[in-house]
This record gives sequence, structure tokens and C-alpha cells, in this order.
Amino acid sequence: MTAKIIDGNALSTEVRGQLAERAAALTSVGITPCLAVILVGEDPASAVYVRNKVAACEKAGMISLRDVYAADVEPALVFARIAELNADPSVHGILVQLPLPKHFDSEAILESISPEKDVDGFHAENVGALMQGNPRFIPCTPYGVMKMLESAKVPLKGAEVVIVGRSNIVGKPMAMLLLAQSCTVTICHSQSRDLAFHTRRADILVAAVGRAKMITGDMIKPGATVIDVGINRTAEGKLCGDVDFETAKEVAGVITPVPGGVGPMTITMLLANTLEAAERSLK
Ligand code: NDP
Repeated sequence: MTAKIIDGNALSTEVRGQLAERAAALTSVGITPCLAVILVGEDPASAVYVRNKVAACEKAGMISLRDVYAADVEPALVFARIAELNADPSVHGILVQLPLPKHFDSEAILESISPEKDVDGFHAENVGALMQGNPRFIPCTPYGVMKMLESAKVPLKGAEVVIVGRSNIVGKPMAMLLLAQSCTVTICHSQSRDLAFHTRRADILVAAVGRAKMITGDMIKPGATVIDVGINRTAEGKLCGDVDFETAKEVAGVITPVPGGVGPMTITMLLANTLEAAERSLK
């Protein structure tokens, strides 16, 4: 029996519909949720991500501001723009598209965003709040994964979870969220010994590495839930995940595809965070 597929596009459409209704309700009382996106440089993937985020915002009835800077821009100019957006009460969310060019101190840029407007959830204050189990903004990709697990009614309490990847934007916050739901969490990375030993124990396996099809069916416990965060390109230019979908779907119980899985949910949760920031500004 092949795995049940969690359709990220369908779930996104459903959640974005609910968000659009909430955005319309806010707009009717004079507050239109507004996300400001800053893009530095010409990285084509980043440009596509920003375009998609801006389009999704507008489709959900939110305002989006977009500032695009040349790759060699003085960081001071970007800091000044962030300060301006921090002070602007009509802006509820601020996002700086990563990666930034090498002459930028990315951490300093992220820390300069007001924690109340940090809809990516990357500010140290928000990372700390998540760690304490009291999140203000949940980073969008792991937030989307939690929604997908919820939609598929995957049991979490006591589940053995293995996350492959320990980045600040995916692996670590994912671990915190699942730990908060009483999963037993193992985080693997490039120095982990015998990766398959760990992955085969997982009731829920999250792959967030960035290596095409590295998780194969034989590395998966029969019936497991497999969440593929990876976005890679094959030699033929096609998108694929970190999981070898063809072999994995024969073993897994539930699986997310790439494309059409976690990717659309990430943008959806960015909209959710922006909306939540706008709703909080009412209080
Ligand atoms: P990073 O490069 O920051 O992190 C990758 C992680 O994978 C690191 O922790 C690294 O270990 C680990 N790793 C590398 N090689 C191996 C290996 N052979 N075995 C086990 N672990 C390994 O990536 P991100 O977390 O930013 O992104 C991961 C993937 O998810 C990428 O493909 C990215 O494009 C995608 N992504 C998708 C999103 C979406 O919306 N769907 C959003 C964000 C990311 P170490 O720490 O030891 O180096």
C-alpha cells in the first residue's frame, strides 16, 4: 500500500482562505495587515521566493511592501530602512530575505528587526521565547509542518521523531515544536554516525538537509510519517526533495511531496504570522 500524501497546496488554499477572512475583518476596522519584505542582491531563488510571498500577501487581502537593493548596497542603508519600518505603525511584519551578501552581518540585521514585527521568528528574543515554550512568532517552515501533521491527524504524544538537519531556520525550531508536543526528538546532522540507524527508528521523520533524494525507502520505518522540507534541483532542472519519493512512498504511511508539500505551507504561515502581528496591534 502506498503512503497517504499530505497535499500542501490544498491545505494552503484552505488555510489561506481562513486568513483572508480574518484579514478582511481587520481591514473593516481600519487595519490592513502589512508585510514589508527586503531583498538584497540578485539571487534568482531569493527573487522568486520574494515574488511569491508578495503575491500571496496581496491575494489574501494584505498589503506588501517590497524594497530591493543592489548586492553591493551599504548595509547602513538597509539598517536605516529597517529602523523606519520598525517605527511605522502601519507595518506589522518585516522580513529580510536570506541569504544576504557576504559583506552583511546577517545576525545583526535580524536582531535589528523589532521582535514584535519579526514574522520569520529569527530574532534571538523570539528564538528564546520558542525555546521556553511560549512562542511569539513560530518560524514559518516548522510552523507549516506542524499544521500538516495536525491536518493528517498524526499522533504526536510519545512519538519517536528524527529530524535530519540542525539549522536555525528549520531543524532546531522544528525540534522545539515537536518537543513541546511531547515527542521524543533526535536531531541528526552531517557528523551523525549511521544516519539510517536513526531514521529507521522514526515514527515521524523530518528531512531538512538540502541533498537531493538522500533519504531512501530502506531508511524509513514502515508506516512512518515522512516530512520532506528539502528543495533541490535534479540535473534535469526539476525540483525534488531530500527524500526519494518513489521508494519512500512504498514504505511510509504518510508523506509530503516536493513540490507541493512544505513549500506552499511555509508562505501560508508567513501570512498567518503577519496577520497575528496585525491582530495583536489592535490590543
Ligand atoms: P542548512 O544548509 O542550513 O542545513 C542543512 C543541515 O543538514 C545542516 O544541519 C547539516 O549538518 C545537515 N546535513 C548536511 N549534510 C548531511 C548529511 N549527509 N547527513 C545528515 N545531515 C546533513 O539548510 P536549511 O535548514 O536552511 O534547509 C534545508 C533544506 O530545506 C534545503 O534544501 C532548503 O532549500 C530547504 N528549505 C525549504 C523550505 C521550504 O519552505 N520548503 C524553507 C527552508 C529551507 P551540519 O549542521 O553538521 O552542517
